[in-house]
Amino acid sequence: MITGGCSFKIKMLQSFDMSIIFKRTKILATLGPITNSSEMIEKLAAAGVNGFRLNFSHGTYDERDQQIEWIRQTTAKTGKPVAILQDLQGPKIRLGSLTNNVEVATGDELILDFAAEHNGFTIPVQYNLAEKTKPGEPLYIFDGKIRTTVLEVVSDTAIKIRVENPGTLMSRKGINLPDTDFAGDIITPKDVADIEFGATRDIDYVALSFVQSADDINNLRQILVANGSNAQIIAKVETKSAIVPETLEEIVKASDGVMVARGDLAVEVGAEIVPIVQRRIITLCRKYGRLSIVATQMMSSMVDSPEPTRAEASDVSNAVVQGSDVVMLSDETANGKYPLETVAAMKRVILYTQDHEPVEQIKDKFTENEKQCDAICVAAISLAKQLSVAAIIVETKSGATAANVATHRPLLPIISVTSEVRTAQQLALCYANRSYVRPDGDEAGYELAKELKEQGYLGDDPIKVVVISGQQPGAVGTTDTIKIRTI
Ligand code: PEP
Repeated sequence: MITGGCSFKIKMLQSFDMSIIFKRTKILATLGPITNSSEMIEKLAAAGVNGFRLNFSHGTYDERDQQIEWIRQTTAKTGKPVAILQDLQGPKIRLGSLTNNVEVATGDELILDFAAEHNGFTIPVQYNLAEKTKPGEPLYIFDGKIRTTVLEVVSDTAIKIRVENPGTLMSRKGINLPDTDFAGDIITPKDVADIEFGATRDIDYVALSFVQSADDINNLRQILVANGSNAQIIAKVETKSAIVPETLEEIVKASDGVMVARGDLAVEVGAEIVPIVQRRIITLCRKYGRLSIVATQMMSSMVDSPEPTRAEASDVSNAVVQGSDVVMLSDETANGKYPLETVAAMKRVILYTQDHEPVEQIKDKFTENEKQCDAICVAAISLAKQLSVAAIIVETKSGATAANVATHRPLLPIISVTSEVRTAQQLALCYANRSYVRPDGDEAGYELAKELKEQGYLGDDPIKVVVISGQQPGAVGTTDTIKIRTI
């Protein structure tokens, strides 16, 4: 019994050491007061962060410009492309400023008024709820801690609600409206201003909060295109309407990626539903070749503690086994006492899990529109396995071929070589990917493989790589060639 335990431990450690440099699941870290410096951004990237989330619910444009500059300076020093994700606030509705905290009891009736100041039971709110809510709809305040019901619309700017449980109202606490239909009107004037700002900056992904249907994604895409942005769209799934099965599938298809925004999702639909929704979203993203991000409270105890709980390690590990592209940190890296330790702990869980448990298979991968590209990717992975190659190298312009290889969740590194900086940065969040910016050319993949071999990244002995390319280097949608190169 004891002997068995020891040898298992030794085997585990050997396996862990061998793969220390290659993390297939990527880490997205939210920047905040505690990490708001070039030194911390550099340390986070060195610790294993592949992308930074800028939360546009807070901060000024000047602060955003400074953060973007620091992030890009880090890449300039290290040569490691990282993604920047602009997280739009969306219709995140909040109470206004209260002159004092307000104790409420079951049965109390309050007025929430867009146009009024705080006065007794008249509470200011930062959104005109009179335009959207209907009597009988639930309205939750402060992460669902205070549950209320809409009684009536009392004016053009005010509604009356009844409190269902006791609690304390405080300034600017969030409001959730799980049954309210925003009728395609979820992109607020603040979001439009933020999108216009982001479109002129070096932003790789734009995440839309409180998505209710695929129309919301299509509307955002129109605004991005109109502003000349080539950022990809992440749908944050956190509403009741978004998780209706047909709606969810349409949202996945309309987006470039989906975030399981578990914080608000739990408030809107109940915590017990979240794990199943997470699994469905990851599966759908893998089916349609979209990026998947599991977010919120993955390591939340590490805001105050240098070690994760067992439950948190399990949570990250489960996301890895389910085949998520990305796991996200919020408060842990924005406000926590141990941001670097959190990233290191998350990386350890990812590495250990990927070395000891295969990613779950999915049954129905969608291939109809991209038959040739998908067939080439499948063949390349099969060759790579059969010939024990060191890596799959993908010459890619838009990133689509590299992302397609990733949907098959190969065990090998996917080395993307592209002349597009934006593509390299976007692929930084893609499963098993490492991206490099190099000029287009007939031998771009082979040249990069030689360079990486010289650096020792692909091993010392003569190695083989599989290179996927097209006969017209640099042209989108022309992937048609697989080469096996020995170096
Ligand atoms: C969430 O609700 O889980 C989430 C990621 O969104 P935000 O942090 O913007 O509320």
